Amino acid sequence: MKNIILFGPPGAGKGTQGSRLSDKYGLKLLSTGDMLRSEVASESELGLKLKDILASGALVSDDIMIDLIISCISAPDCEEGFILDGFPRTLVQAQALDAMLAATNKEIDHVIVLDVDEKTLIERIATRAAETGGARSDDTKEIAAKRMQVYKDQSSPVIPHYDTKGISIHVNGMDDMDTVTANIEKAL
Ligand code: AMP
Repeated sequence: MKNIILFGPPGAGKGTQGSRLSDKYGLKLLSTGDMLRSEVASESELGLKLKDILASGALVSDDIMIDLIISCISAPDCEEGFILDGFPRTLVQAQALDAMLAATNKEIDHVIVLDVDEKTLIERIATRAAETGGARSDDTKEIAAKRMQVYKDQSSPVIPHYDTKGISIHVNGMDDMDTVTANIEKAL
């Protein structure tokens, strides 16, 4: 087991499952959301551009994301395998990832899809906002609903892309976190 994509809508628990899998299997965790948030926090020129996009719940452009992920995956710390949390989020990104991996003789081994109930998820995001004191500018109920719509329109078409390749593993993301972890480990 080497290269894994964790896929699911916002609030599905990708971050939690990603760090657990990364610890257990020694795979490099690449969370695009975390990378973008630290870019924003650095107040770099790019960070300033990204700030409003993230706060609005829209997606960052494919070009920026593809460049970012290509440079991460090519780094030595990804050689033993990696987990992508938050990428790809569009079909264009998925196709660019395919091309990039093929060119370097790598491949995605598993795509873990967290299947969820949207309404419950929006509640979950609102709870996270309350718990974290709104540390994330996109953790409000209104923006959560927007992000869910963006997921449905732009990200969900990525699922059949990997289903067709026969590498996706569907897990019920509505179970409690430990059950989700156990089910992922069983399936891998
Ligand atoms: P996340 O923490 O994964 O929910 O990502 C937070 C925000 O970062 C998203 O709502 C997007 O604005 C942006 N983002 C993260 N990953 C991507 C991606 N692969 N493509 C476009 N935007 C992204």
